[in-house]
Amino acid sequence: MQIARPDSAVEKILPGVADFLDSQLTMVIGDQKVAGESGQTFPVFNPATGQKLADVPSGTAQDVDKAVTAAQAALNGEWSNMLPADRQRMMLKLADLIEANGEELAQLETLNNGKSVMMSRLIEVGASADYIRYMAGWATKIEGSTIDVSIPVPPGAKYQAYTRKEPVGVVGAITPWNFPLNMAVWKIAPALACGCTVVIKPAEETPLTTIRFVELCLEAGLPAGVVNVITGSGAEAGAALTAHPGVNKLTFTGSTETGKIIGVQAMQDMKRVTLELGGKAPMVMFDDMDMDQLGIAAGIGALFNTGQTCCAGTRIYAQKGIYDKVCDFLGGMVGSLPMGSGLDPVNQINPMVSAKHQNHVKSCIARGVEQGAKPMLNAGDYDGEGFFVKPEIFTDVDQKMSIMQDEVFGPVLTITPFEDPDDAIAMANDTRYGLGASIWTTNLNTMHRYVPQIEAGTVWVNAHNLPDQNMPFGGYKQSGVGREHGRAALDNYLETKSVCIALG
Ligand code: NDP
Repeated sequence: MQIARPDSAVEKILPGVADFLDSQLTMVIGDQKVAGESGQTFPVFNPATGQKLADVPSGTAQDVDKAVTAAQAALNGEWSNMLPADRQRMMLKLADLIEANGEELAQLETLNNGKSVMMSRLIEVGASADYIRYMAGWATKIEGSTIDVSIPVPPGAKYQAYTRKEPVGVVGAITPWNFPLNMAVWKIAPALACGCTVVIKPAEETPLTTIRFVELCLEAGLPAGVVNVITGSGAEAGAALTAHPGVNKLTFTGSTETGKIIGVQAMQDMKRVTLELGGKAPMVMFDDMDMDQLGIAAGIGALFNTGQTCCAGTRIYAQKGIYDKVCDFLGGMVGSLPMGSGLDPVNQINPMVSAKHQNHVKSCIARGVEQGAKPMLNAGDYDGEGFFVKPEIFTDVDQKMSIMQDEVFGPVLTITPFEDPDDAIAMANDTRYGLGASIWTTNLNTMHRYVPQIEAGTVWVNAHNLPDQNMPFGGYKQSGVGREHGRAALDNYLETKSVCIALG
């Protein structure tokens, strides 16, 4: 069933979703749905209620080995003999299938992740289908180049050289819980366009839509083994995938800490690696900004997905002339946002993904208070069912405080005044992260002067937190290695082979 009107509430869980949750959930290896070697499972929860939703197989190193073997067989089999146009056709069919199953996928995502069903419909389903179509377009446009060379030996010899772009091989993809289906697609779609095969390990908290997506890959006609899914813990299944010698490339989105472990492991056998890691994005607001945009800055820039976004603009720097107005507006707005289940899009503050993450966000707020920052909303603890955290805004914040330096990944903002723009840029850059940032101004000079000074992979102007499939996305500094999206993403999944021909 296609998605419902994006802003409509879910009145009833669809029978297809209920049946899926009641079924014995499996991993997919080759074209087989498998329970895994250990027979063990782990529970996944509905963050809005704290109730168990389903049990999912605990994948082991043996399961990972089987999945990698299946991916290697597919790489050396039918898949590699297909025309790029055939790959493209299958990807387009996959996008259609995502839309055809859109409302089921959206409900499943909201039940498992807790996010607003509007976001599930528009992003997890809609943007994922669009992303697959975008990448399907590239499948038929992969090209090398001809190269003039100046090789002087033996004297008088002539050469012709060219490059071929070849699939990097088996891709190990490890994804986070904040945009479960969309992140899976960000990795799988370019891999398929380039002719690679994939073993994906979704986050323990949110494996459900990835399992369903890999089932749809088979329905779309992708040969057995082209996309495999192993569910399980990062410590076991994730680590086994990272270390497996049959994996040629790793692509990961998640925390900087885990990204470092994966990066170091990748170098043991020189796996290619792309890392999209944490962030602590600044939003620098100048006196001349259009104040009507404050709502967008807070709603989309900072609190989109209840702040569980890697480029959430949670550090606000407001110039002295507008500082009080910014505080008043954000205090009023953020403090009154409706909080509740994502099944009703009226709720703009949805639960944290897990009890563990709820505790993490609460402890970040407590540390902010301990370190002397002033909680403007003084929201206090949430004591109902589910993994909710009440939003908080801190003022009187020092750059050194953990609330300013460490990723919270929740509905927690800081607002800091500045007078001199150069000071604001210095504070904005005073972080180990560099994923996203924004400048809010109506002055072109201000924009052109400060955009180059910001250390971030994406700088928005009068906007924030809006990626696009055609716009490279990734981090400076400890926010990652490499870029996803656009043409740049293809290079992550291709090797370059130089061919040099001695002419007779
Ligand atoms: P992690 O980075 O630990 O998890 C992301 C993925 O990596 C999950 O699939 C996880 O598996 C897997 N993983 C964990 N350890 C290993 C390992 N040793 N080898 C291979 N894979 C591994 O993030 P958390 O879920 O623990 O969240 C912690 C913090 O990370 C958040 O508070 C937030 O600040 C940040 N984060 C950033 C994201 C981003 O978009 N950049 C997304 C999510 C979180 P499993 O879940 O099964 O353990």
